[in-house]
Amino acid sequence: SAKSGGGNGVAVFTDAMRAQFELQDDVELNLRSAVSDGSLLLHYQPEVDLRTGRIVALEALVRWQHPTRGLLPPGAFVGVAEATNLAGELGRWVIRTACAQFAQWRQQGLASNVVIRINVSPVQLVSLDFVESIEDTLRSNGIDGSSVCLEITEHVVVQDLARTQLTLRGLKRMGVQIAIDDFGTGYSSLSHLKALPVDAVKIDRGFVQRLGVSTDDLAIVKSIVGLAGSFGLGVVGEGVETAVAARTLVGLGCYRAQGFLIARPLPPEAVETHLAAGRIPLDLELPRV
Ligand code: C2E
Ligand code: MG
Ligand code: MG
Ligand code: MG
Repeated sequence: SAKSGGGNGVAVFTDAMRAQFELQDDVELNLRSAVSDGSLLLHYQPEVDLRTGRIVALEALVRWQHPTRGLLPPGAFVGVAEATNLAGELGRWVIRTACAQFAQWRQQGLASNVVIRINVSPVQLVSLDFVESIEDTLRSNGIDGSSVCLEITEHVVVQDLARTQLTLRGLKRMGVQIAIDDFGTGYSSLSHLKALPVDAVKIDRGFVQRLGVSTDDLAIVKSIVGLAGSFGLGVVGEGVETAVAARTLVGLGCYRAQGFLIARPLPPEAVETHLAAGRIPLDLELPRV
């Protein structure tokens, strides 16, 4: 162990690596049953209009209530799912669960003007029956496509542009919105943005977090907001942790935002409280316009 190694750096590294491999084995062994035995759950993170605090969207974020390891974040198992043929199953579970929950909130009158955002992995997007399975899920829950936004990463776009185009066009025919997640971190060129029916970009939280600290990041965020504007795309700031970041986004004309300053990802019951209020008041002391 690290201790018996006397604080030796190599031993510590080895322990960390062993723990990582153990986790990976565990995930491979147990994720399949987790999908069916009720130990996966979704948290929902509100997205607001910073000017009013009004809730405009909810992002579904998957977690795994692991029997011995506690509540695991997606970073601990989504990658393994993708590497072991489980991404399809996991993805279908997420879409079905998020849509069922969203439909229930709609029926309760809690989410009338709110969009549900769902993360989609590259593996799902290239599967031939993806569009049809979305259509089925929307129909069986009575949800219109325009109330749903699927989040994809730039990575997907680059892997198989032709296939991605086909899938996204199928989704657009149902009115489903598409957002590019973690925008600014991938390799997609502007020509990809132009070639795909994308509705919005979400500025990667790495840039947003450093607003007020780094002028480079300010320049990047400013140019993404400008780019979105000239392409007629919506823009959302992710990872808003400070009032400075929020005020800066508003100053740049990026009004939609998500982040710990506003609300953490929350279990359904806790989100309902926010939905019932319709807004999450923020005291940003914005300049009056
Ligand atoms: P993402 O889609 O970019 O989601 C935002 C992540 O940033 C979430 O992490 C959220 O908890 C975190 N976050 C939000 N606000 C803040 C903030 O102010 N500060 C900081 N430091 N973090 C913030 P989470 O839930 O761990 O998810 C990580 C990633 O896992 C997601 O990034 C998404 O790419 C992926 N993911 C989550 N759920 C799913 C899913 O159902 N399917 C797939 N394929 N991927 C998922
Ligand atoms: Mg996302
Ligand atoms: Mg993101
Ligand atoms: Mg991400």
